[in-house]
Amino acid sequence: MTSTTTAASAATIFSTGSTDSICCRRVFRVATFQLGHTRSNLAFLRTTRNARCTITTAPCSSPPVIHAAMATEASAKVIDGKSVAKQIREEMAIEISRMKESIGIVPGLAVILVGDRKDSATYVRNKKKACESVGIKSYEVHLAEDCSEQEVLKHISEFNGDPSVNGILVQLPLPSHMNEQNVLNAVCIEKDVDGFNPLNIGLLAMRDREPLFVPCTPKGCIELLHRYGVAIKGKKAVVIGRSNIVGMPAALLLQREDATVSIVHSRTKNPEEITREADIIISAVGKPDMVRGSWIKPGSVVIDVGINPVEDATSPRGYRLVGDVCYEEASKIASAITPVPGGVGPMTIAMLLSNTLTAAKRANNFK
Ligand code: NAP
Repeated sequence: MTSTTTAASAATIFSTGSTDSICCRRVFRVATFQLGHTRSNLAFLRTTRNARCTITTAPCSSPPVIHAAMATEASAKVIDGKSVAKQIREEMAIEISRMKESIGIVPGLAVILVGDRKDSATYVRNKKKACESVGIKSYEVHLAEDCSEQEVLKHISEFNGDPSVNGILVQLPLPSHMNEQNVLNAVCIEKDVDGFNPLNIGLLAMRDREPLFVPCTPKGCIELLHRYGVAIKGKKAVVIGRSNIVGMPAALLLQREDATVSIVHSRTKNPEEITREADIIISAVGKPDMVRGSWIKPGSVVIDVGINPVEDATSPRGYRLVGDVCYEEASKIASAITPVPGGVGPMTIAMLLSNTLTAAKRANNFK
């Protein structure tokens, strides 16, 4: 099958065609107060079948005894990822129409979805909508849960050879009978818009080398810091979490920008003490409200990557989403903080689109 017919057949399956400076210090006083929380209170409530999430109670609303630095006046500036992402999409739409007018080409993003997980289907739908909104052509292949790894590899190989597809994304998680590494490694590096290829990560880690793509979520975190005028050079940064897709590349990116970076993980003995030294905190753990006010240095900037569902009887869904950071406490101590939702989440998709545009420009030698 030629690359053009591959795009066409994929399209038949599915086509959509189409500073301010934060570092202002506030006056803080340190207060000791009673909050009364124990970790054992974090009740496991239920695991939904189609969501990869476990819904728990929000520990932040229960009271531990902690020492916390409390602001006496205004709370932290909200780092609004939703509006920054919108702005980025608008900038990209202009750039994509310039590309279309100049060379008659628009970027293409292919998504491979395997199985019927509702959460994965929702992510793919959102990516497709975002593509449409900026003029990126999207292609989707939806395969059955019991399809073979070979079949997934065949589609990747077709998209690899298709010049109308600039980025390829395999929606994770894959069914357990597939080897995720094999599948991800099959995406050619020029189309690895997720930035997960080990070569991309290696280039990110090396001095004076440039990766072809930076993983979308950590890239979105750094973009938020830039767009809100947060100085990174020479600052102390703490990244909580060291996953391949968020924590580790976030730490590498901060280091590339000359921050002094510490990484806190599940075996770290004194996470609170280390985190309290940070001027910039990026948390990517997946534990609701783990980072309390007492972990935060007054005036620091907090980027909360965590997305955690917690029980909420007042919500029609019975749950709401919270981050890793106890927003209520942290927003009184930090100088700026991302909300959840509406912080890093929208930036991840914006960065995926941005990586796809970069790939298309590179492939077509368009400046
Ligand atoms: P992950 O692969 O499960 O990694 C979690 C990391 O947190 C691990 O490095 C783990 O340490 C560390 N950790 C676990 N418990 C800890 C503790 N008590 N103290 C300190 N560190 C601890 O998760 P992920 O994929 O990076 O995702 C993290 C969170 O970000 C999740 O809530 C996820 O939903 C969210 N997320 C959001 C976006 C977005 O677009 N906003 C994108 C991706 C992920 P070890 O390495 O020692 O196990």
